[in-house]
Amino acid sequence: MKLAANPKVKNALKNNLEKFSRFHKRFIDEGLPIYIDGLKTFGEGKRRENLCPINNKPLSTWHTASLAQLHKAVDSSEKAFASWKLVSGKERQRILRAIADGIEARAEEIAILESMDTGQPIRFMSKAAQRGAENFRFFADKASEASGGKSMPTATHLNYSVREPIGPVVAITPWNTPFMLATWKIAPALAAGCTVLHKPSELSPLSSILLCEIMLEAGLPPGVCNLIHGEGQDIGSALVSHKAMHAVAFVGSSHTGKSIMRQAADSLKHLHFELGGKNPVIVFRDADMQRALDAVIFMIFSLNGERCTSSSRLLVEASIYEEFIEKVRQRIEHIVVGHPLDPATELGPLISVEHFNKVCSYFQKASDEKADTPIGGKAHALHKSEGGNYVEPTLFTHANQSMAIAREEIFGPVLTAIAFKDEAEALQVACDVEYGLTAYVWTCDMGRGLRMANGLRAGMVWLNSENKRHLPAPFGGMKQSGLGRDGGDYSFDFYMETKNICLAHNSHSIPQLGVKQD
Ligand code: NAD
Repeated sequence: MKLAANPKVKNALKNNLEKFSRFHKRFIDEGLPIYIDGLKTFGEGKRRENLCPINNKPLSTWHTASLAQLHKAVDSSEKAFASWKLVSGKERQRILRAIADGIEARAEEIAILESMDTGQPIRFMSKAAQRGAENFRFFADKASEASGGKSMPTATHLNYSVREPIGPVVAITPWNTPFMLATWKIAPALAAGCTVLHKPSELSPLSSILLCEIMLEAGLPPGVCNLIHGEGQDIGSALVSHKAMHAVAFVGSSHTGKSIMRQAADSLKHLHFELGGKNPVIVFRDADMQRALDAVIFMIFSLNGERCTSSSRLLVEASIYEEFIEKVRQRIEHIVVGHPLDPATELGPLISVEHFNKVCSYFQKASDEKADTPIGGKAHALHKSEGGNYVEPTLFTHANQSMAIAREEIFGPVLTAIAFKDEAEALQVACDVEYGLTAYVWTCDMGRGLRMANGLRAGMVWLNSENKRHLPAPFGGMKQSGLGRDGGDYSFDFYMETKNICLAHNSHSIPQLGVKQD
């Protein structure tokens, strides 16, 4: 695999590392703060180290929140809800726009801290910070219309519906693109009039602190968004089962989603899940090969392949399989693996040793299952030299749907290629997994594209495109990939309850009971 050699690029890395040291210094000095009721404080629970994926050395030490702090945060979210839900849509819009401005002003700091915290290449993290601002700006402009409903008149009554914020919401987010995903949950909740208690992943907590600071500086009232850090098993779990919280907006693995569903059952909480995927990209013989190739490579090797919408299963029509796979292999050969703060880096280190071990376990599984590995399939040289969680971008070929490498979410830069003979088989293979998040279809035959789109069991299907975000469009998965949808008005379906109000014209007759009969 190529390493960045250009001296200009080396300088850029040096600059970024200097900036990182400057931005990060305060966390070394004081640990990672939490925010309860607008006040900065520090966790009183377990001590943890925040490890850097490039070498697994500690970036800083910090303490998780204690249970007493968790209860305090919940109380604060409950109290703040009483007043935040009454704030006008216009005022919420003003504050959310100010938050978007604040994010833009600190976008570089967010991107650099997040890159080192997660191992994600800076080229992608810069865009992720920008997307966080877009999320706030988009939902700011929807705040005024969020409570609107329908009118449903009859001859004798007027039924009309309104939407009300559901209450204090727990937002639990994962480590892969933490800033963007936190804003994707928090912005619509605040626009709807909910308060939020955010628990980011314990593996990449840094950027959540910046978001909290930005929100408070932008004038978000104390308690409207609280932040606590902690492990999923204790703090996450205690939040999910807390009776005072009305809903859980969760982004993470399907395994954790199931456990949250069990824990939330006693208080019958509303749940919104964005979970895992094993998404197919299906390439037919008549596709625009160059564009399909670009998209295939981008959708599995960007963001370290640690991306829920990654196209981790490549289904190729048998007649072009060998030729297409060879093109994929050649492109993988030139993927630049390196330091996440190096602008030339296309693939950085994976988040943790545990995740590195999980991804590497599939290299062995592929060989046990008798798939071929024409490229990759082992730890990258930087793993040995730097001690970081680097793996080689990997291609498995001649796989079939019975193999673990074709069924399980690996969540790394690993692509499993399967041949299919016709449309029917492509559809059958594509749907033969427990997940149903996204699917990508490449064909110039629009009729076939539409037939495939109709048949695919996935929450989102892209025809002749990689994943392109459009904020009003519904985002979410079927089967074990999720519950509910985000985006546009769909977000408000979760963060708001619908209430129907029925007014009588006083012209209908009311059945009379208990009237004395003469
Ligand atoms: P994870 O499920 O391990 O953790 C996610 C969050 O849940 C973390 O904050 C963690 O602390 C918390 N958590 C863990 N156990 C908990 C429990 N019992 N109760 C409450 N909270 C708990 O997921 P991860 O490893 O951080 O992220 C990777 C997964 O996220 C992948 O499966 C990926 O596909 C998925 N993901 C999905 C989307 C989407 O939009 N569908 C987006 C990003 C990531």
